[in-house]
Amino acid sequence: MRTSLSVEEALETVLEHTTPLRGVEETPLNESLGRVLARDLQSLVDHPDVDNTAVDGYAARAADSAGASGENPVRLRLIGESPAGRPFSGEVGPGEAVSIFTGAPLPAGADAVVAVEDTERDGEFVVLKKPASPKDIRKKAQDLAAGRVYLKRGDLLTPGRVGLAAAMGYARLPLAPRPRVGILSTGDEVVEPGTPLPPGGVYNSNAYSIAALVREAGGEPVLLGKVGDRVEAVKEQLAAAGSLDLVLTSGGVSMGDYDIVRHLLEREGTIHFWKILQRPGGPPIFAEFAGTPLFGLPGNPVSAMVVFFLYGRPMIFKMLGRSDPPYRKVRALAEDFFKGAGHKTAFRRGVLRYDPRAPGCHRVNTVGNQSSEVLRSMASGNALVIVPPHTNVEAGEAVEVIPFGDVQT
Ligand code: AMP
Ligand code: MG
Repeated sequence: MRTSLSVEEALETVLEHTTPLRGVEETPLNESLGRVLARDLQSLVDHPDVDNTAVDGYAARAADSAGASGENPVRLRLIGESPAGRPFSGEVGPGEAVSIFTGAPLPAGADAVVAVEDTERDGEFVVLKKPASPKDIRKKAQDLAAGRVYLKRGDLLTPGRVGLAAAMGYARLPLAPRPRVGILSTGDEVVEPGTPLPPGGVYNSNAYSIAALVREAGGEPVLLGKVGDRVEAVKEQLAAAGSLDLVLTSGGVSMGDYDIVRHLLEREGTIHFWKILQRPGGPPIFAEFAGTPLFGLPGNPVSAMVVFFLYGRPMIFKMLGRSDPPYRKVRALAEDFFKGAGHKTAFRRGVLRYDPRAPGCHRVNTVGNQSSEVLRSMASGNALVIVPPHTNVEAGEAVEVIPFGDVQT
């Protein structure tokens, strides 16, 4: 069994054993926010579909009003009007103008537009104090050309992209299926929130923090409840779960007698690795069990979240075919001391703030208590401070940081 991998080796190994999900879900536009495109999208239309006006004003022939000014105004005869969506049916001849409104097609015969602010109305005439010019005409297809690709497979659907897909003419979008991720908690002491806490009990926070992280990454969490510390119970619960793309367990992966997830995988799974040289989150196990990848997260609430974020989130991105990176790193000025973890990589929780004067434009403070059972650090913190092996970070040093929440400004 491979054991005690570096952070980089562990990430490489989980991604090696992760494949993009097959299939496409045709989904209504209004349900597509936060999901991922499974195919390139080409525009179904030209936009604008014809030349139109970007301003309220008058359409005319440029030659008629060349040189028009306040001192030398030009009078044109009005022959009609064209609001948006109602094209003018006639043709603009020499000395003539049509009153038009933003988005209206440029009438036949006209090749220029003057904004209403640069004119005065005089009965059947309009007086131009500036020349009508082509600069306020939106050219046919200047925004979108039919047949051209504007959204790519792997793009995350943001509000702007949802709008763009609508502008291109799509009512439904071909989306990547969301990975179904089973979450099973283990531990005799673990009980569901909302029930009384027995002596020595602990509420099942991992199921909910991990489900939230899965959802945030674009997966669909499937809560499988919790089982006590019996190998058979884990096995039965997983067998009852049905088809999943990934199984996450929490607890039971360390060195102890009750580390039943590890015992089960040793007996009946294929273990890709056990343990990563990091703190928190040293003991995870990554395996295949009954044909499905299984990531055994540590039980400590902070460890479970950090390990999921660093390895599980990239797996989900890969299953979705997402083209944006699962996380990014920024440089920041450490304002506190961050302790290393000997030969392991430490991921300390910090509060990251934007500051244009700091190196990397950010400053980071410690959340205080860095124990891996103190979940408050994940609630008040918004970043993992990377302390490389064999180092500490002193206050005043620059450090690399992985944001995991909203950065404060
Ligand atoms: P384990 O990895 O099973 O040895 O658990 C390590 C620590 O995490 C113990 O203190 C457990 O009580 C705690 N723990 C395990 N599972 C959960 C859970 N689902 N929610 C909250 N804490 C847990
Ligand atoms: Mg346990």
